[in-house]
Parts: sequence; structure tokens; C-alpha cells
Amino acid sequence: MNILKDNFGRTFPYIRMSITDICNFKCGYCLPNGYQVDKSDTRKFLHLNEIRRLSKCFSLLGVNKIRITGGEPTVRKDFFDIIKVLKFDSEIENIAITTNGYHLDQKAKLLAKSGLTGINISIDSLNQETFKNITGHDRLPEILNGIEILQDIGFKNIKINAVLLNGVNSSRKDFDEWSKFIEKNKIDLRYIELMRTGDNLEYFKKYHISSKIFKEYLDENKWIHQTFGKDAGPSLNYINPQYKGKFGIIAPYSKDFCKSCNRLRITSRADLRLCLFGNTGINLRHLLQKDDQLEELRDLILKQMQFKKESHYLELGDTGSTKNLSKTGG
Ligand code: SAM
Ligand code: SF4
Repeated sequence: MNILKDNFGRTFPYIRMSITDICNFKCGYCLPNGYQVDKSDTRKFLHLNEIRRLSKCFSLLGVNKIRITGGEPTVRKDFFDIIKVLKFDSEIENIAITTNGYHLDQKAKLLAKSGLTGINISIDSLNQETFKNITGHDRLPEILNGIEILQDIGFKNIKINAVLLNGVNSSRKDFDEWSKFIEKNKIDLRYIELMRTGDNLEYFKKYHISSKIFKEYLDENKWIHQTFGKDAGPSLNYINPQYKGKFGIIAPYSKDFCKSCNRLRITSRADLRLCLFGNTGINLRHLLQKDDQLEELRDLILKQMQFKKESHYLELGDTGSTKNLSKTGG
């Protein structure tokens, strides 16, 4: 079997695929003015057949996990067809999504039955007002309700992502609220450090804070750093026997963050991105048009691996071509 491997010895069993740039939320750090059509890029979003060919190719390349993201992936009308194709037409075992949880209460049953093996939901705060201020939508209750439905049906692999924002959701009280939540719920909560992108410099300057503050909270409260975990990737995980869920920290600016990189990205317009923040990447669309292009596609992807850089160089202020994460899926 061919394996995706770069010049630094890292392997890539994990693909994040964005299926649309469109989003219905207005998160301050991502799309503060809501989704705007990019007139400079009129290429279409990935078609169902292109997604099928890509996933087939990646499973030949040893990929065992694919995460569908966006924009907001669930806004696509053929969203459930996409999940079906991944589930039945590729050999990829783990099929996950990242969603903002819009209408989760209405979609929970369908999602649980769709064949997904994991759902990551973005909730920056358990405070309804704060949630509304960050996302521009007063939808926290429907999302929490949706999570309850998922759990009642027995859906196991739920994670929550919260972007850490200085003075917004970074207080002891905020951390305590999440503690209470994961004490009773078998759900992992990960704080992600705010990342600077091409569009959000002012927001970044105002709200970025090191995740050290949360790490200190975890240390004080006797959370134990878990050093193992298959395909854990760059998340630092913490356990505490009294709690059903785990805490995690994703700190892209930390030293050695890129050493554990295990993922590649496909943008909604079929660009292979070797790094969330890199300029490096190549469009694959011309090799996604017919089933008999599979070998050519595989060879092209394999060749690209030599161009993956050792680090994202974010600490040097390099945001590559990433204007905001709705384009590459976070
Ligand atoms: N719309 C979906 C959602 O919000 O879950 C999927 C796409 S979103 C780009 C994926 C993740 O990236 C979300 O958890 C979001 O909070 C995170 N994100 C977006 N912009 C970010 C930034 N500048 N820094 C850190 N995380 C960011
Ligand atoms: Fe939309 Fe997700 Fe970006 Fe928020 S983070 S604006 S939900 S794409």
C-alpha cells in the first residue's frame, strides 16, 4: 500500500475536506460580516462524484479518517448524500464532521443514523448571550438540545470545540461551566487558540490569548495530561477520573505543534492544501472527472508530499493564502 509520508517522517492518515465556503453564522474571528461570494474565484464547490473519487483515492493511500467541514457543511443540500458516498464508496473507516450545530435539534436523528463516526460541534461559550455575540445567532439552546438528542440515541463520539477569546470566554467561571458540563457528559471539550488569518488581524490583536491560562486551570484542578492516543494529532488531552468527558488544548503557536501533524486538507474547490496555513498546494480537479483517472490522481498526490513544509511559520506572522478558515475548514 502507498502511504502518504513527507520528508520529515510524518504520515497522513487523516484528511479534512471542505465541501463549501458558505456559512450561515457570523463568527467574529472567521466571517464577521457573514458569508460573501468570492467574485475572484468562480470555481464550483466539489461535486458529489468528485468527492467520491477523492475519497476512493485517499483510502488507497492509507487514509483511515476523513473530516467533512466548511464553511458550514450541513448547508449543502446533498450533505447526507456526501456522507453516504464516503460511507459506502470508500474504504475509509472514520467519517466525521465539524459543524456549527445549526438546527442540530432537528438534524440529530438523521446525523446519528447517517453512518458518521464522529461529530465535532463548535460552541465557544455555554453562556447564551456570549454565544450570540460571538456567532451572531441566538442558537445555543437548539444546539445543546441537539446534543442531548444525539446522546439519547446513543451516538458516542461527540466533541466540542471552543475558540479561546481573551475576556470573552477565558475566565475561571467559563472553565468551571465547561467542567460541570463534561462532568456529566461523555463529551470532549477542546479549547483552540485563536489563529491569525489574512482577514482578522484586528480581532486577533484584541482577543488572542495563550492557552497557558487554561492549562494552569487544568493543572490546579488535578487534570492529568494524557500522553498516548491513536491519531491524537496536535491536541493535548487531559483526563480526570471524576469526569465523564475530557479536556483538550489545541495550541497552534506552541513549539513543536507541527511535529505531530497528521492531516492534509482539500478545499471546497478541490485544492490540495498541505498545511492549513501554507501557500503550498495544487488543484486536483482535472483528475477528478473520470473513474479511470484514479492512478494518475494517486501519483500526483504522492508527489506533492515532498513539498510539505516542516512548520506553518505562524509565529512569524505568516498566514499564507488563508483569508479566513471558512475556506479551508479549520
Ligand atoms: N462551520 C463549522 C464550524 O464552525 O464548526 C466548520 C468550519 S469552522 C472554519 C471549523 C473550526 O474552525 C471551528 O471550530 C471554528 O471555531 C474554528 N475556527 C475558525 N476560525 C478560527 C480562527 N481564526 N482561529 C481558531 N479557530 C478558528
Ligand atoms: Fe461559520 Fe464555522 Fe466560520 Fe463560524 S467558524 S463563521 S460557523 S465557518
